[in-house]
Parts: sequence; C-alpha cells; structure tokens
Amino acid sequence: MRHLADLDVAGRRAAVAELGQPGYRADQLSRHYFGRLTDSPDDMTDLPADLRETLTQALLPELLTVTRELTCDHGMTRKTLWRASDGSQLESVLMRYPSRVTMCVSSQAGCGMACPFCATGQAGLTRNLSAGEIITQVFKGARALASGQLAGGVGRISNVVFMGMGEPLANYAPVVAAVRRLSDAVPAGFGISQRAVTVSTVGLAPAMRKLAGEGLSARLAVSLHAPDDELRDELVPVNRRWPVAEVLDAAWDYAAASGRRVSIEYAMIRAVNDQAWRAEALARLLAGHLVHVNLIPLNPTPGSRWTASDPAVAAEFERTLAQRGIPVTIRDTRGREIDGACGQLAASAAGDRSIELQNAPAFRRPTGPTR
Ligand code: SAH
Repeated sequence: MRHLADLDVAGRRAAVAELGQPGYRADQLSRHYFGRLTDSPDDMTDLPADLRETLTQALLPELLTVTRELTCDHGMTRKTLWRASDGSQLESVLMRYPSRVTMCVSSQAGCGMACPFCATGQAGLTRNLSAGEIITQVFKGARALASGQLAGGVGRISNVVFMGMGEPLANYAPVVAAVRRLSDAVPAGFGISQRAVTVSTVGLAPAMRKLAGEGLSARLAVSLHAPDDELRDELVPVNRRWPVAEVLDAAWDYAAASGRRVSIEYAMIRAVNDQAWRAEALARLLAGHLVHVNLIPLNPTPGSRWTASDPAVAAEFERTLAQRGIPVTIRDTRGREIDGACGQLAASAAGDRSIELQNAPAFRRPTGPTR
C-alpha cells in the first residue's frame, strides 16, 4: 500500500499529478501529516472538501492499527503492539526522559538474525517494513505526545532509535528513506535532527559501508557483544559471515564519513562475555577510534539460559574500559515490566508467549551454508 511517507517530495508531486492535481497539493498534504501531525481529512481545511477524501485515501492509508498498548515507569514508557494491513505484527516503544523523548522503532516484522539472547530473534523474520510503516510508528507516537497521552504532559519526539524489532540494514532502502523522512524539514519530513537518530546493526559490513556513502549524520550503533569471533559467532550468528575485524573496519568507515562516534552495544551476560580479559580485548580493539560503548545489562528472555551480569562485574568491566580511555556508560533499561526493554520485543499479541517459546530453540545455530 503506497503511503505519502514512502515517497520523497518529487514522488509525492508525481503521485498527486496522477490524480490530476497540481504539485502544491502534495506539499499541503505533507504539511498536514509531517507538520500538524494529522491524517484526518476534516482537519485539512485549506484543501477543497472533495479533494480531502481523494488525497487521504490515495496517499494516507491506515498502515498500522494498535493491537495493544502497555505503559510502565509511571507512564513514562509506553509500548505499542501494531498490526499491519497484512496481519504482520510489530512493536515500538516511546520513552520519556527528563531532557528527551526517544521513540524506539521496528524496521522489520520479526528478525532473521537469530541472536540467541534476543526475543525477536527466536521467532524469525516475517517481512521487511516499508518506509511508510516505519514512519507511521513515529507519526502515531508524535501524535500521542502532542495530545498529552504520555505522562509528563504535551511533548515532542526528540530522538529515534532503530532498536525495535528487526535488522535495519537488512531492510536497507526503506530504512535510509525513513531516516531522511525523519530529518528532512517540514513539509518533506518531521524535522527531527539526524544527529538524534540512531541506526543499530548486528554488523552487516557491506551495508554499513554503503551507509557511510549516504552522507548521513545519524549515529550508527553496532551490536558487538563480544570482542572475539569465537564467542561472537554464537551470540550474533551473522558474525560467521562478517567477523569482528571486518565489522569494526566498516564501523570506522562510517565514523569517518559521518563525523559521529559509533556506539558499540554490549549486552552484559553473566559469565558469558563479562570477563576482565574480554574488557581488555575490547579496549584494544576500540582504542584510538571515534567510539562510545554502551553496556546493557541483559534482559533475560523467557526460556533463555542466560542472565544479566552481576552489577559489580558490570561496573568492573566499565572501569576497565574507562581506564583504557574508552568512553563508556552502563545503559538504563526502560520498560522491563511490559517486555518493552532491549531485546524483549517479540509481538506476542495474545499474551500467549508460553506457546511461542516452547517451540523456540533455547539456542539456535544458523543452518544454511551461506551464513
Ligand atoms: N538488529 C539490530 C537492532 C535491534 S536490537 C541490532 O541487533 O543492533 C537493539 C539492541 O538490543 C541490540 O544491541 C541488541 O543486541 C540488543 N538486545 C537484544 N536482545 C537483548 C537482550 N535480551 N538484552 C539486552 N539487549 C538486547
């Protein structure tokens, strides 16, 4: 289903021209959607009444409907489960902090990367999302904030992170289009600073290099989770295709091209990747590079044989990196109680996760010869 947010400004004008309308109608429609955050014909009083329905039906179809909404952290965190028009399920999370509001979006329904510690990875990939479906998550979040639905009053989305379901760089073109639509000024897009947008990847090196050529200033996050290939092959199976050295090489390309620090994401898993020698190995890999390490206490997913590192061990890991001059923080994880925290998004609509998880292998290894 074609949506305004799938198209750039020229594409929207062409789409409007197909309906026999002048190009400026596309700009008017875009201003309603990206600027005033409305997709309702009744609000579009600057358009002739008969045109409102025509344009909204053609370019603003309802892509996502809410299946479930859960809040926690005193109403400051809200997870939404969405259903797309073909029945695919996906989730996003809106998080209010003292000085920012972050929307965590899905780039795919499900995920094909099969990381064994991640809830989404257990169920596999359903399909890629369109740019319109990615942008719709932000649109609906922005509307909820603008109408004061999140605790803390009326607000705006300041940050967007591609850390929901899916591997953004496995859905390259729609994700790059969505990044542009987030950051382009109204009426082309929402006008959110690209510097406040983060694309997180398992490390698809060729796509990372391609991204470095897009001229973006969005932040790139790399889910490393281990400094050594032996362990990373298990934690992030795609490492067998693009090992640590190659992933980091591509990350430094992106840092050089964008001028932005690359975030290294490291889920702290007790007695798996939290040893002092791994902290030292990680420091050696990262020293001298434009980088910041985020240590994330593992959110154990049901059925997982792993748990979070002991806080003292995580603190020691952090200290080891800091002493070697690597900028590092331990990330606060929001939304645990509503399965809305890092790695917990699994779109279990019926709340019937036990069924889903009984069939999920506790540990999945890639099978195909190409992986
Ligand atoms: N596919 C992308 C983006 C989605 S996941 C990626 O892997 O980067 C966003 C982050 O959450 C990644 O760093 C991922 O490794 C991490 N994550 C997944 N499961 C987790 C869990 N159970 N606990 C903590 N972090 C987790």
